[in-house]
Amino acid sequence: MTLHPCLTCGACCASFRVDFSVHETEDLGGRVPRGLVVEVTEHIARMRGTDHARPRCAALTGQVGQRAACGIYEWRPSPCREFEAGSQACNRARLRHQLPPLEGLVP
Ligand code: SF4
Ligand code: SF4
Repeated sequence: MTLHPCLTCGACCASFRVDFSVHETEDLGGRVPRGLVVEVTEHIARMRGTDHARPRCAALTGQVGQRAACGIYEWRPSPCREFEAGSQACNRARLRHQLPPLEGLVP
């Protein structure tokens, strides 16, 4: 069985700012754990660590390009749910971490 490419990657979680509505945080009825979030404005929340000079989401476990996983997979915010493996943004993130581009999602 081929391992899903995201399981040996994690580059997107260490490349981009991850912003979403404060209503996705557990404080306001959502599911994203409070401790992993920073408030940006009264409307916008951000995954902690994703706005650092070398971004890395505080929920990311493992090592980018080796073995990586989201520590809050079931509770991750909408931008993470919508992010597509094999998209241009995915391949930009992979390039940033010296990983080869994906041709598209392996079924
Ligand atoms: S979506 Fe792309 S950049 Fe993100 S973990 Fe999967 S393969 Fe890596
Ligand atoms: S919440 Fe999970 S999927 Fe989203 S950036 Fe962080 S580690 Fe990646």
